[in-house]
Amino acid sequence: MYHERPQKSGKLAHETIDKQIYSTEKKWLQGIDVYSQQYGICGKIDLFNSDTGALVERKNKIKQIYDGYRYQVYAQMFCLREMGYEVKSIFLHSLSDNKRYEIPIPTLSEEQEFAEIIQQMKTYKITDPISPNPNKCAQCIYRELCDAYKP
Ligand code: SF4
Repeated sequence: MYHERPQKSGKLAHETIDKQIYSTEKKWLQGIDVYSQQYGICGKIDLFNSDTGALVERKNKIKQIYDGYRYQVYAQMFCLREMGYEVKSIFLHSLSDNKRYEIPIPTLSEEQEFAEIIQQMKTYKITDPISPNPNKCAQCIYRELCDAYKP
């Protein structure tokens, strides 16, 4: 319910995808729901070109390729794979400066790293202690809602 400026920009950036008006060509899967039984995850993809096998996640402005970005596209890839699509390449697209970054298809060890993160998320307990990183918190869009945030 609570949106800060980055979330509003992100929502605008995804508007053509959410409304499925990015392209009328059938090869583009736009904003479809995806699911992986293996990992127990679901979500939405941005764009997948079923002719070339290219998966594209668009973001308003990419300054750095965070691990979270990688995990997000890995998750989309694993869901699509389980749904019978072959993802041959993955891209992050920065809309404001029109830059595209290729994310290599995850290796077996990167898939294991992803599986461990999912496992940690599934076994996380709200009462577990956390050690917030003040630099990260200062950039976090949820800081106004977070008890752990110490300005
Ligand atoms: S403000 Fe809260 S949710 Fe955001 S990074 Fe810090 S601890 Fe995490």
